[in-house]
Amino acid sequence: MATAKKTAPKKASAKKAAPKKATAKKPVAKKVAAMKEVAKKPVAKKAAPLKKFPSGAVPIEKKLRALFDLQGIDSKIDSIRTIRGELPLEVSDLEDEIEGLATRVTNFKDETEKIEDTITNKKLEIKESKSIIKKYEKQQGNARNNREFGSLAKEIEFQHLNIQVAEKKISEFKMGIDSKSDTIDSAKKDLKERKGDLKHKKKELDEIVAETEKEERKLSKKSTEAERYIEDRLLIAYKRVRLNARNGLAVVSVERNSCGGCFNKIPPQRQLDIRLHKKIIVCEHCGRILVDPEIAEVKL
Ligand SMILES: [Zn+2]
Repeated sequence: MATAKKTAPKKASAKKAAPKKATAKKPVAKKVAAMKEVAKKPVAKKAAPLKKFPSGAVPIEKKLRALFDLQGIDSKIDSIRTIRGELPLEVSDLEDEIEGLATRVTNFKDETEKIEDTITNKKLEIKESKSIIKKYEKQQGNARNNREFGSLAKEIEFQHLNIQVAEKKISEFKMGIDSKSDTIDSAKKDLKERKGDLKHKKKELDEIVAETEKEERKLSKKSTEAERYIEDRLLIAYKRVRLNARNGLAVVSVERNSCGGCFNKIPPQRQLDIRLHKKIIVCEHCGRILVDPEIAEVKL
């Protein structure tokens, strides 16, 4: 026996992608766009409207059963749309993450290149200092007096200091590059993984879209068939309640003497009326159409 509870739209588990590290900006607009993309897709082609049965010709019991069926079908459609709506978000989350990682890798590479340029310059400075030292040493050999020799010695000492400073800087820069290359490697690894995830997700999305569109078309047909038994006034009321209800339920069964939608108690006389199937009875609190569990068993 089916109950209203069973047909409630399942919340599709929204798997959250791994926490973003680098970029966490503007995902909202993208997400909204992704949702709209799904929403505007013409999923179920409207079949030519089937002729409705005249209201007087349909017994109340049949109407109740049709309403109950309609609710089950519409809830299934809701849940399909929820699933289909969340996958594009996962895809766009992944795309954001990949973009962030790629930017990181590029930035690291640029920084490394800059440091390498600086190292090259420092090496040139060392070379220059060495050639200056050579030149001064040669000049020392030809020094005419102690003062000239001494001043050349000072110059040579100064160039040696220059070389030392440059060598120290180079080793610092090299250490910087080493630590950066570790970070680049791990960012590259993450990037590769995420790209794999994205490929997988996109494939999954395509499959689910194709599959659910087929399913939704089938359900839409069934929904139209059930609507034939329900007069317009009632159908409009049903749709209005569904729109306003958090879980999209407009037809609920009586469970433990209470409304299966809002859980308020139903007076005994009203429960009796519901069981008699002589009138369409709505919950006084939430306006949902109430059916007894037996309705699920009624044959159309
Ligand atoms: Zn209620």
